[in-house]
Amino acid sequence: MKFAIIAHDQKKEALVRFIQDHLDEFSKHTLYATGTTGLRVSTETGLTVHRFKSGPLGGDQEIGALVANKEVDAIFFFRDPLTAQPHEPDVSALLRLSDVYDVPLATNEGTALAVITYYENGGLS
Ligand code: PGA
Repeated sequence: MKFAIIAHDQKKEALVRFIQDHLDEFSKHTLYATGTTGLRVSTETGLTVHRFKSGPLGGDQEIGALVANKEVDAIFFFRDPLTAQPHEPDVSALLRLSDVYDVPLATNEGTALAVITYYENGGLS
């Protein structure tokens, strides 16, 4: 499967911890990420991560393009609901595309746990 991982700055620590907690599962999948998130995840977990531009510089849109081309199976996007984001329109566009293409999108740790547990239990198989 192909997973996209993104975290706003205040949530990067939580995403790294989440991936470390589910390292066996994440290591089975191809990972795409926005620039800074990808750097932190690869450095702190040792996983290989395909990195796009940083989110504010277009990385969310690059991941949106993957979604539009049906090249993403799930998105883990740890959003910070308490801080204004300069690239909010890009974030909204990614959320919209995930709805257009029915791609599971976890925007917080609770939903992320539900989604990764689904895969840990074999997904649809
Ligand atoms: P970043 O982008 O991983 O480059 O920080 C994430 C975002 O804010 O969309």
